[in-house]
Amino acid sequence: MTGVYGGEAYGAECGPAKLTGRIVRPEDPGYTDARLGWDQLFSHYPLVIVFAQNTQDVVNALTWARQNDVALRIRSGRHSLEGWSNVDSGLVTDISELKSVHIDSASRIATVGSGLNQLEAVTTLAKQNFAVTLVDAITGHLEHYAAAGQHGHVFVGPQGGQLRRSNFRDDWVKARKDAGVTAELHFHDLRHTGNTLASTAGASTRELMTRVGHSGSRAALIYQHMTSDRDRAIADRLGAMIRDGGGDPSDNGDKGSART
Ligand SMILES: Cc1cc2nc3c(=O)[nH]c(=O)nc-3n(C[C@H](O)[C@H](O)[C@H](O)COP(=O)(O)OP(=O)(O)OC[C@H]3O[C@@H](n4cnc5c(N)ncnc54)[C@H](O)[C@@H]3O)c2cc1C
Repeated sequence: MTGVYGGEAYGAECGPAKLTGRIVRPEDPGYTDARLGWDQLFSHYPLVIVFAQNTQDVVNALTWARQNDVALRIRSGRHSLEGWSNVDSGLVTDISELKSVHIDSASRIATVGSGLNQLEAVTTLAKQNFAVTLVDAITGHLEHYAAAGQHGHVFVGPQGGQLRRSNFRDDWVKARKDAGVTAELHFHDLRHTGNTLASTAGASTRELMTRVGHSGSRAALIYQHMTSDRDRAIADRLGAMIRDGGGDPSDNGDKGSART
């Protein structure tokens, strides 16, 4: 069968396409792992999943889907909160295994495969001194700046002694100036920012307490500010849960609800 795309018959000029790459179908043992996304609220059963190993695999999958009139989804990190990267009875082209990296040190341009995730990108860049991971930064600090021994202070004064307001202030003002931030930023704000970011990254109240060394939850709750992104994500998920349970949030009660 020849599919129709953009009003024109598609595929007639290139012959029947064949799926290539790492192919997983419902009867294959790895199908469940291959089909599920991060949010298992959306549980779709695609006809076939193609883990592309190169660009031609993507071209073949796209052509095959059009020629056979099969719904197509592209998937990368599987994090879509709306479940958009999967589809029942369709073809999922998964690009997460396209992990090539080419770093041109002279022009400082990195060209990466579309499946490279953030951690892999930063770690690869860090190996060539183009980025510093948090673990590298902390390890480097402990090795070069902290006091020796298990009980040595992590932060010390310029001569290795006790860190005090009097011997820290000049460095702090200089660092603030170099970073281009105003005097309104206090040192303690960094701790607040760090833990707010940890909260946004998904840390639980207990994990936030551990990170800042609090024994009670009151202070940790302060870091759990609502950001507009998270607010939207939570609202979307609640809406999906209500729909899944049979109650459509847009339903005014006059009619029954249906999951689409
Ligand atoms: C735990 C968690 C934390 C998150 N934190 C943040 C955050 O801090 N900031 C933020 O902005 N977002 C955040 N998100 C949202 C997330 O970044 C988005 O949902 C994003 O779209 C996920 O991309 P993905 O490749 O992982 O997802 P996928 O499910 O693979 O894809 C997402 C969408 O992009 C399409 N797509 C994927 N690859 C391609 C491609 N190569 N070409 C064309 N279309 C493509 C898919 O079809 C789908 O519609 C978070 C999500 C989760 C689950």
